[in-house]
Amino acid sequence: MTEATTSQEPAATTRPPLIELAGVEKTFKTGKLEYRALRGVDLSIAPGEMVAVVGPSGSGKSTVLNMITGIDRPTAGTVAFDGARLDEMSEEQLAVWRGAHVGIVFQFFQLLPTLSALENAALPLDFLRRGSTKERFEHARHNLEVVGLGDKADHLPAELSGGEQQRVAIARSLAADPGLIVGDEPTGNLDSVTADEMFRLLLRLNEEGKTILFVTHDRDLAARAPRVVEIRDGRVVRD
Ligand code: ADP
Ligand code: MG
Repeated sequence: MTEATTSQEPAATTRPPLIELAGVEKTFKTGKLEYRALRGVDLSIAPGEMVAVVGPSGSGKSTVLNMITGIDRPTAGTVAFDGARLDEMSEEQLAVWRGAHVGIVFQFFQLLPTLSALENAALPLDFLRRGSTKERFEHARHNLEVVGLGDKADHLPAELSGGEQQRVAIARSLAADPGLIVGDEPTGNLDSVTADEMFRLLLRLNEEGKTILFVTHDRDLAARAPRVVEIRDGRVVRD
């Protein structure tokens, strides 16, 4: 990726942002020790963007994602999603907001081992109590088809490959039809061929209108994302 293509990317400047971090700082306190994980992060992401977040281990990538999903709160600065201030919401408000607007995909899939692919994919709708049981399963089945796993709905996670498990996790992230999908190293536990398939699935979801934000260690995958944000020592050093 060249610097020129990203700095000329018009999306972030011409449309009102979906996500806006301004002056975000995060200090972790462990006993008497303080660690400044984020040191003034400004980041604006427009609706429909696909952004790869890169940077060394410990640079603050997961912490930035946790600010955006409202899993953690800034020590200073503001975090807004579609104009709503996440840093001012209560835990209850954040949980409701997150359930409706964000799908999260993790490195280690985090499927429930005793539930089938279909049941895992329906889980967020059970939490949200959205629709009847029949409707939840119909919607989850549709999402398994979207990720190419329609034929494995009844399989347990242990009966699926790593790539298939991550597809179930992506189907689960789609359950509530969120506008934003966030992945913390979603391809980090997959071989390069499977990682490539997963990346192309994310690209397709992006083309269908989802805003996608994912952390990756894989420089080649990051280079194929339309926009790359590099974090170092708790700051954005390249965008
Ligand atoms: P990355 O995802 O880029 O590897 P993280 O965002 O997980 O980095 O962490 C950034 C820094 O903040 C690291 O030094 C990490 O040890 C520290 N950190 C992250 N979470 C916590 C926490 N809950 N308590 C204390 N320190 C933390
Ligand atoms: Mg991390």
